[in-house]
This record gives sequence, C-alpha cells and structure tokens, in this order.
Amino acid sequence: MRPHQPDLRNAILAAIVDSSDDAIISKDLKGMITTWNNGAERVFGYTSEEAIGKSIMMLLPQGREHEEVEILAKIHKGIRLDHFDTLRKTKSGKIINISLTVSPIYFEDKIIGASKIARDITAQKETETLIVEHSEHLEIINNISREIVYELNVEKVVAKVTEATTKICKAACGIFLYDLEADHGKSHMLFESGGTSTKRTGIAFNEVLLKNIFHEKGTIRTKDIEKLEPAETDFILKLFEESHCDITSCMAIPIISKTGLITGGLFFGHSGIEVFKKDHEKLIESIASQTAIALENARLYEEIKSLNSRKDEFIGFASHELKTPLTTIKGFVQMGIQDPEQIVEFLPKINKQIDRLSSIIEDLLDITRIDSGKLDLTLSPISLSSLIKNCLESIIPIAKSHRIKNFTVDEEINLNIDAHKMEQVLINILTNSIKYSPPDTEISIKAKCINDNIQISITDQGRGISNDQIHKIYTLFYRIQESSTPVKGLGIGLYLSQQIILAHHGKIWVDSEIGKGSTFFIEFPIDAT
Ligand code: ADP
Repeated sequence: MRPHQPDLRNAILAAIVDSSDDAIISKDLKGMITTWNNGAERVFGYTSEEAIGKSIMMLLPQGREHEEVEILAKIHKGIRLDHFDTLRKTKSGKIINISLTVSPIYFEDKIIGASKIARDITAQKETETLIVEHSEHLEIINNISREIVYELNVEKVVAKVTEATTKICKAACGIFLYDLEADHGKSHMLFESGGTSTKRTGIAFNEVLLKNIFHEKGTIRTKDIEKLEPAETDFILKLFEESHCDITSCMAIPIISKTGLITGGLFFGHSGIEVFKKDHEKLIESIASQTAIALENARLYEEIKSLNSRKDEFIGFASHELKTPLTTIKGFVQMGIQDPEQIVEFLPKINKQIDRLSSIIEDLLDITRIDSGKLDLTLSPISLSSLIKNCLESIIPIAKSHRIKNFTVDEEINLNIDAHKMEQVLINILTNSIKYSPPDTEISIKAKCINDNIQISITDQGRGISNDQIHKIYTLFYRIQESSTPVKGLGIGLYLSQQIILAHHGKIWVDSEIGKGSTFFIEFPIDAT
C-alpha cells in the first residue's frame, strides 16, 4: 500500500535528517531535547535514547550556560539564530567548535519549540589557527631577516634573534649562547623569558662540548638530550638552571658559521611535555643560518672598527717614534754647523739614531710586504751558536739592566734559515723580555734540537700576560694597556715575529703567569726550504 502524501513527505524529511553529517536536534521551549538525528550522535557522542528527554544544557560547556537562556529568549520572540560560532561539550567531555543555526518551530501559528543544526567546525578552526600562526611566523621571520641583515652590533643581533625565536616556538625561556670573543675564551649568554632579555657573561664557551652536543645531526630535542654524555647533559641543564627555567621539554639548535664552526647555540625550554615540534625546528633552523651570517658580518665590522682605531693610535705613535730620532739628529747637526770640529764626536750618536730610524722603517716595510704576501725568505747556512751570539750582541746596549743567561745546547748544529729575519724575531722577544720585566731580574735563553726542529725559549721574570690577552699579542698594533708602568712600543714586534716564524713553517707560543713571568717559545725546522 502506497503511503499518503504527508507520510511520504515525512519519510523523505526523516531520511534527509538522518543522512545529514550535521547534528539536527529539536527541543521544546523549556530546552528539553525532543528529536536527535544520527549526525547529532556522531558529533556529540550521545545516542538518541540517551539524549531525548534530557536538557540541552548537557551540551553546554561550563561558563556558557547563559547562551541557552539567550537563545531561548530569541526563539520565544520568533527570531532565528544564524551560523553562530560557539563551543559545545561532547559526551566524552571534549570541547568542540560548532557553527549553530537555531530556528523556531511553529504549530498552528504558535511557537512550540526550536530546531537546531550544529556543524562541527573544529577541523576548520584548527586550520584557521594554523594559517594565522603561520602568517605570524612568516611575519616574524621577515622582520628578523630584515633587521639582522642591517644590524652590525653583535649584541643586538643576539638579542633580536633570541626574542624572535623564543616567540616562534612559544618557549618559556630561550637562551642564546654564543662566543663573544672567539680568541678570548669568554662566552656570552643571553636569555629571554617572559618578554625580557637578560645578558650574562662569563660562562666558558666550550666549542668542543657544543660540537659533541650537536654532533653531526644539528638540532636536538628532549629525547636526544637524554642520550648525551653526562658532561654535555649537565652543561645544558646548568644553562637552564642559570635562567631559572624549569624544563620538561627542550630544544637546542646550533649556530654554524660559513666555515663549519659552531659559534653558538639556541636553547629553548618549557615545563610542558613535547612542546617543541618539527615545524618550530625548521623555522628556527632557517633563522639560525641567517643569524650565523649576520653575526659574522657584525663581528667583522667590529674587528675592522677596532683595527682602524688601533691603526690611528699606531700612526700617532709611529710619527712620534720617527720624529724623536730625527729631532736628535737635527740637534747634533745644528751643533756641528756651529762648531764643525765637534761633529766627529757626535757621529756615533747620529749613527745610533739613524739605526733606530731604519729599524722602524724596516719593520713598517715588512708589514707592507706581509700584507701583499711578499715576505720572501733569503735562506743561508748559519750555526745555532752564531744565531744566538749575533742576537745577544745586538741587545748589549739595552741589556745591561738584566742578567742574561744562555743555556744553549747543540750549539754547532747548522741551520738553513733566513738568519737576518730569525735574528729579528729573537731580538724582538729578547727586547720585550727586557722591556716588560724589572731591572736586575734574570732572562734566560735555551736552545735545543728536537728531531728535525730547533726550539728556542726565552724566559723572563716580568709582569706576565693574562690568559685572555695571550692570543691577542700577535695581532698587528695590539698592545696590552698597562696604566701602572707604561712601556713604549708599537705593537708590531710579535706580529712580525709570528709571520716570520710561519714563513719558516714554524710556530710561536708563550707560557705566562701574571706577576711571575713569561716564556716565549719558537720552534722551526733546521732546514726551512
Ligand atoms: P710592543 O712591545 O711594541 O708593544 P709587541 O708586538 O712586541 O709590541 O708586543 C705586544 C704586546 O705583548 C706588548 O705590548 C706587551 O704588552 C706584550 N708582551 C710582549 N712580550 C711580553 C713579555 N715578555 N712580558 C709581558 N708582556 C709582553
């Protein structure tokens, strides 16, 4: 038997309602559920048996109960609610995003209840949040790239990068550990937490440790940190401890220079579990590689600036050094003009000043030769004893104040070196020992043969050199500023010495203790060809 027309319509409507993905629910004016489709069961988890007859309030999360009152008030007035984005609670207690349309139900011109269509828009909302997050990240990356490209101040680069990366990965604290002065042994740590960045110095920058931490893999996360050696784990934990950061999750990303050196590391911490995701890693790695370039540029700029100011100081001092002998020579010559017979008496003094002038000029010419890669050696045979003897003779005029002792062994060994330049090195080191140690102290020279090399050491009992200066003294124009007893100098002697030793395929180094003295070592092949 064919159904009546209204029965057919109802059957069609019921089929549509049941096959809908959306939750379609009806309720009476007191908010009691009267119908509940399959979609409602899928979205909210309750079966129709569980839902029908219950209050619609069971779907409202805490704090949103007022919404139902407002919706019912509108329904009473015959007002429809269209695509209202809100939150609802499922049977399992999960909060979901839904888009809600509520319309009044009329029977014989009277409103008897409301129909609700609720669409689960959680996935859509998540995608929207992700898009917003991505565009925020893109903006941060764009801004930071623009800012650090033009930033020539190392500290500002570090501060900006710490702030931006901490924001991107939503870390509770971000630490940027970087080598403040690579040749200096000091390091610098900057951490950012809660929007404020603080600077700390004094943590020993340990490149080897950082290299082990990052291994060859680069970025590490919580689970990788557990696999590190105890010293490496301790180092990371100490970093977070210093910044008072309680960590359950962490992530560390290396800053790698163009030449492959690890010049720093970004460390992020959070008390939550698995906070740092692959996405964060990729974004921050891209910032880290730009940071490495920016830091290198900034460091180069600072180096040039300091070299420039040292050059200015040098020009001032060199002009003075060149002028002094000239003034003395002019004085003697004028006296000779007035009394020509006296000139003979002045000649040795004039000669000494001319020697001083030519030695300064020779040093300056050597610097130019090194700069243009033209420091050529003229090799010739010389015995070790003659080399040392020549140097000792040259320093006689200034060495009277000190006790010079020679402990050379293997004296007769024959060397094939640029004797003139090697003497220049030894005279520089001996002159420094005299200049930088008090009168009446001892200066000893030891020379010996080690395999195919000669090692010469010069020990003084002078003021010594501190650990943080020890690598800098070979830098052109570099002088340690000592206010107590200023000593004259140009800051070029050790630079030239190192260059000459390197040209002989040798090395120069120093052991020193502040207040006790220094021992300079040079070692070079017996035959420098
Ligand atoms: P200069 O002696 O003209 O300043 P150098 O290049 O020879 O230049 O030396 C660089 C710096 O190294 C010096 O300014 C001095 O501070 C330090 N130095 C060199 N030799 C010694 C030494 N024997 N004891 C202490 N300091 C030294």
